[in-house]
Amino acid sequence: MFRKISLSVLLFSIIMPTFSQTVIKRNGGINRLVAGVSSDSLRSYIQTLVSFGTRHTLSSQTDHDHGIGAARNWVLSKFQEDALHSSGRMTAKMDTWIEPADKHRVNRPVLMGNVMATIQGTDPADGRIFVVSGHLDSRCTNIMDSTDASPGANDDGSGVAAVLEMARLLSRFPLKSTVVLVAVTGEEQGLLGSTHLAEEAKENHWDISAMINNDMIGNSVSSGTDKHDNTQVRIFSEGIPYVETEQEERLRKALAGENDSRSRELARYIKTIGNTYVDNLKVVLIYRRDRFLRGGDHIPFQERGYTAIRLTDFYENYDHQHQDVRIENGIRYGDLPQFVDYEYLRKNTCLNLATIACLADAPSAPENARIDISHLSNETHLYWQLPKYGKAKGYYVLMRETDVPMWQKKFYTDSTEITLPYSRDNFFFAIQSVGENGLLSVPVFPGIGR
Ligand SMILES: [Zn+2]
Repeated sequence: MFRKISLSVLLFSIIMPTFSQTVIKRNGGINRLVAGVSSDSLRSYIQTLVSFGTRHTLSSQTDHDHGIGAARNWVLSKFQEDALHSSGRMTAKMDTWIEPADKHRVNRPVLMGNVMATIQGTDPADGRIFVVSGHLDSRCTNIMDSTDASPGANDDGSGVAAVLEMARLLSRFPLKSTVVLVAVTGEEQGLLGSTHLAEEAKENHWDISAMINNDMIGNSVSSGTDKHDNTQVRIFSEGIPYVETEQEERLRKALAGENDSRSRELARYIKTIGNTYVDNLKVVLIYRRDRFLRGGDHIPFQERGYTAIRLTDFYENYDHQHQDVRIENGIRYGDLPQFVDYEYLRKNTCLNLATIACLADAPSAPENARIDISHLSNETHLYWQLPKYGKAKGYYVLMRETDVPMWQKKFYTDSTEITLPYSRDNFFFAIQSVGENGLLSVPVFPGIGR
């Protein structure tokens, strides 16, 4: 008898901790939107992109079915088709300029073209813009080789395919704020297209809330270590912002805010969106601006003070990336469409789409969020003002221990202040708006005030 009881007590204590649950609550409309992403569509876009032979920035501008000129005309025609289904909300354009020769990767003045789809928000009072990019250009082993085959199926046919699929679906799905989907050019020659776009955004005072760069999101096999994983994707975010005023820098140092830049909060937000809307996909936060000593199209945006992140395959395959198409010692080199994992690409496109739909239909973050420092206390008093765009029915105040990457607790309030019995010494806090539709803003890291 004694034995029996002790066994049941033992079992109970083993089972208890597994009762902790994660509640998945999806917005019905966004869930249906995301379900529309098709791996067949993504495959067909990449097949067409590869059919242009090369999309090198210095390749043919005039050939009908070969080179960068033909490729960008095709992307434009796809956007124009989508625009027909948008009840006038979506416009497509080619943004062209002449890039002068430089001493690096442009050996003569060349005509450049970013292909852009702008999907106007339904709320005229909402000035926010959300930007999603992939890069249209491709490369061989030799960066100046503009004639040999460079299929660029994953780098970055995958990112452009995601952008095209989002245009197809969002042209039919009205959102409150404006979304810009863009196939930028000249990435491999030095981030030329995204630099041009970020500069244009700055000059025209675009209120860009978030920029997502998709560069290689369809490869699931590693070279060298021969691992296969299509259930994880990396998100790169800057910790210390590229651009800070002196005052912002002082505050960051005083509050230990180096892990709570706007870019990092966006990365955490995208991870929660992945958890909620995309099955069998884990978003892995990488605490770096980009991969080791490498860069991408989000960086020109970060350099101009915008909130921007990069999404990339969990594993890279260096036999397929930046390689001439060839067989050597029995190994097939080259960025070919048969190496793309279209189910993985589908999931990563879903992640983009769910993120943009949630953000563009949620209110913006609360304004002027502050931690009250008028006196020393073991309680933390936070206060804030209404969001600039959209309406909040309430707010979540988020909390985490200082050595933990993701927010651990959320306190709901419909007030614009809260006092929590937790010390600001031992926890980080942030505040996010909750829209009337239940959608959430990116959390904002509070400053200080009295
Ligand atoms: Zn790339």
